[in-house]
Amino acid sequence: MDTYRNFICGKWQESASARVVSNVNPANTDDILGTVRQATRAEAKQAVESAAEAFPAWRATPSPIRGRIIARAARLMEDHQEDLAQVLTREEGKIIAESRGELQRSINVADFCAGEARRMTGETIPSELPANFAYTIKQPLGVVACVTPWNFPVAIPVWKIAPALVAGNTVVFKPATLTPATAVRLVEIFEEAGVPAGVLNLVLGSGSDAGDEIINHPAVKAISFTGSNGVGIRLYEQASRRGAKVQCEMGGKNPVVIMEDADLNLAVESTAQGAFGSSGQRCTATSRAVVVNEIADEFVNRLVRRAESMRIGDGSDPATEMGPSVDESQFKTVLSYIDIGREDGATLIYGGSRASGNGLDKGFFVQPTVFDRVTPDMRIAREEIFGPVLSVLRVKDFDEAMRVANDCEYGLSSSIFSNDAARLFRFIDEIETGMTHINSPTTGGEAHIPFGGIKGTGIGDREQGSTALDFYTDLKVVYVDYTGRKREGNLY
Ligand code: NAP
Ligand code: MG
Repeated sequence: MDTYRNFICGKWQESASARVVSNVNPANTDDILGTVRQATRAEAKQAVESAAEAFPAWRATPSPIRGRIIARAARLMEDHQEDLAQVLTREEGKIIAESRGELQRSINVADFCAGEARRMTGETIPSELPANFAYTIKQPLGVVACVTPWNFPVAIPVWKIAPALVAGNTVVFKPATLTPATAVRLVEIFEEAGVPAGVLNLVLGSGSDAGDEIINHPAVKAISFTGSNGVGIRLYEQASRRGAKVQCEMGGKNPVVIMEDADLNLAVESTAQGAFGSSGQRCTATSRAVVVNEIADEFVNRLVRRAESMRIGDGSDPATEMGPSVDESQFKTVLSYIDIGREDGATLIYGGSRASGNGLDKGFFVQPTVFDRVTPDMRIAREEIFGPVLSVLRVKDFDEAMRVANDCEYGLSSSIFSNDAARLFRFIDEIETGMTHINSPTTGGEAHIPFGGIKGTGIGDREQGSTALDFYTDLKVVYVDYTGRKREGNLY
């Protein structure tokens, strides 16, 4: 069994606190991966101070040299792809194919960011005045806090830490309490890749304690957060009061719209993949299927057949298609939403309870669940469940589908199944989400393409792709006058 430690100022150190938390395999609660003493506020403060001390030297390191270290981290992730994927499945519960995919995404992000290190370019801008010009440079912010959730415990930290470091910031990384093992392995990789002492610090502590200490520390200039709306909005309020920069990627309630001309098999398979993949615990998971009446019966019948055939179990078995909820609390939340759906009058047509038998009793397994005849006012149509629960909302036509799809506080991802080009382009124009997919699931994204949501989902700059460095840099504008004379024009 492992003991997870904090990494502060280049040293692995066990916390002095008495609060010990176990890392439990959600597919089998007898399997304990390790324990961690949860960092104290003093230790969190020490991590911020260590990052602040390391900043000047890291800032002065040329960005291509910083990029080379990130590239080395990418190669190390590649070397350890399989063992990291195994730990990820055991710690978080997602199936092994998804874990391997998450590692590949992380490698791609690190590779992309390493390349960006050579593209930290600005603009040169002609002036209104003769013998004058202006240009812009990107500069690091200082200490950045990366606060991350458990559902992508490798990829999300990488897509925050890699651009932050490439841009010349130093980092305090606060992963979710539920996923310390992958966090430690990841930081070990950055250490081995050559990140200098103090440049990347890891604090394994609770959000409300160590996390709160970090985000309120005056030396922390920016906070990149991914997680729930409740936590994200509070964090935004707190940090913006002292003028810190904040980026929040939060919840989703992602719709798929299915029109009468859709390829129905493709729509069913993609909806099942989006709704039940990662046990519904992706921020981009499909949680609402908005289906036109004409094909709704057929869609629902085929979807139920697909749900019936899902192989539920321990994600380390390659035959498994769906693993458990991440822990008891999430498991109970999902089951309570199923009760709410029933009470609110939705028609439960498949699943609806704990999955048991066949060795499932020691894990937090929920059956893939489908509710039909859900109406837009029901809580299961409005609130993020984060479990394998799909709400089917029947509509009469495309206009009603658009209204229902957009009637939602969140705006992360969406998709549509149709083959009518005019309708597809109207959908692209009118759907209120930061990302949308045509004839494919609501899930997925690529390392070199911006990622994020609008409305209640996202605050601040987009992560990844061409926008990855925006959040982690300040833009400085430089005016150069080489006339050697007192300015005559441009007196505003
Ligand atoms: P969460 O409970 O909001 O936690 C996220 C992180 O914030 C954890 O590290 C947590 O620490 C920390 N935290 C909690 N309270 C804090 C506080 N007062 N101050 C500072 N940090 C604090 O979210 P989660 O349950 O881990 O993740 C699931 C959520 O993430 C879902 O809502 C999902 O939609 C969202 N998500 C969004 C995206 C996206 O890109 N839009 C991607 C993935 C996930 P502890 O673990 O110690 O509580
Ligand atoms: Mg665990």
